[in-house]
Amino acid sequence: MKILVVNAGSSSLKYQLIDMDGEKMIAKGLVERIGTGKPGHQKQVVGKEVYEVEGVMIDTHVQATEMMLKALLDEEKGAIRSMNEIGAVGHRVLHGGTKFSASVIVNQAVKDAIRECIPLGPLHNPANLMGIEACEKVMPTTPQVAVFDTAFHQTMPPKAYMYGVPKKFLTKYGVRKYGFHGTSHRYVSKRVCEFLGISQLGTKMIICHLGNGSSLSAVVDGKCVDTTMGLTPLDGLLMGTRCGTCDPAVVQFIANNENMTVDEVLNMMNKESGLLGISGLSNDMRDVDNAADNYHGDAMLARDMLVYGIQKYIGSFVAAMGGCDMIVFTAGIGENNGALRERILTGMEWMGAKLDHARNMACADGHATECVISTDDSKMKLLVIPTNEEIMIARDTLELVKH
Ligand code: AMP
Repeated sequence: MKILVVNAGSSSLKYQLIDMDGEKMIAKGLVERIGTGKPGHQKQVVGKEVYEVEGVMIDTHVQATEMMLKALLDEEKGAIRSMNEIGAVGHRVLHGGTKFSASVIVNQAVKDAIRECIPLGPLHNPANLMGIEACEKVMPTTPQVAVFDTAFHQTMPPKAYMYGVPKKFLTKYGVRKYGFHGTSHRYVSKRVCEFLGISQLGTKMIICHLGNGSSLSAVVDGKCVDTTMGLTPLDGLLMGTRCGTCDPAVVQFIANNENMTVDEVLNMMNKESGLLGISGLSNDMRDVDNAADNYHGDAMLARDMLVYGIQKYIGSFVAAMGGCDMIVFTAGIGENNGALRERILTGMEWMGAKLDHARNMACADGHATECVISTDDSKMKLLVIPTNEEIMIARDTLELVKH
């Protein structure tokens, strides 16, 4: 069966068509600048064929979905002959609140529940819903599945997900830690055990998803027990443009002194902070690294802060789990930036994590593969496992629709 994986953002629609017979990606595409009032852009790659559309106004997600299908069905550069070849559609949905601890087939009740979670994911959930409804409109007989970024973290115990604010805010509004990147954490925590040929049962691991957005998770027996992101993806590590954890009073302090609203401060913390805000240069780790290697003071500071934050969370998760068998790196930075992994792991020998310099540096800069980067005598295994959220969404979708 061929499964279409859709990731609808507020102004973009990313997709992959995956043939589940062999789990091969057969088409990958993107429709951008939807509803922005500016001419849009579409690009699809099928093997060596590139299908591109420039300069057309794309007003709605329905229009973007129609463009996606047109590209997939294109006689010369497409991937399928008929829409019926698409067996099901799997949608990435940001926030499932406490309502979803696993993926589900979309029906009216599921759509209502995603809508009820909009206050928790105000930027993404409306777009995710638009993506689902657009596909329903354009492919009315094709089953749709929702896969939630928060679902994997639903196994966290209350002591990990509660905040120390009055409990009524949990009851009234669902104020608690949810965690994100769950599909990636789930894929990597499962895949690493397959790679090592061991059962998930009896394992304690830390997954470091380090990309433009970053989060760590602590996983015991294949189940998440803690993670660094919170009610929203702002919490935890320093990221490309997000500040990560800081004293909540900073919000009021900056708002009062700069005459800004709470929304404006939060926007600054989400979009102008992190690597970008500290280095003053870029949200991209490659730029920050280049500048830091050339002794740019603020770039060096940003990199030091990122490394230190990751080290602190690793230490706290080791303590929380009462030990750790493996640390696994994934996503753009985690997979490609061997030098950063070395900075993070240097000085962790005391807890049994011994990095093999040559193995680590062989797995970097676009050559990331599944590999062990620790020495043979390291008590804790250190690994790189490239993430694949799309395949996880496609697998969940297949599993749900085949019954
Ligand atoms: P992601 O959000 O997972 O796409 O990751 C984006 C981050 O990964 C950016 O900060 C990039 O600097 C970093 N990155 C992506 N590809 C590479 C690469 N080939 N080498 C080094 N860093 C990379």
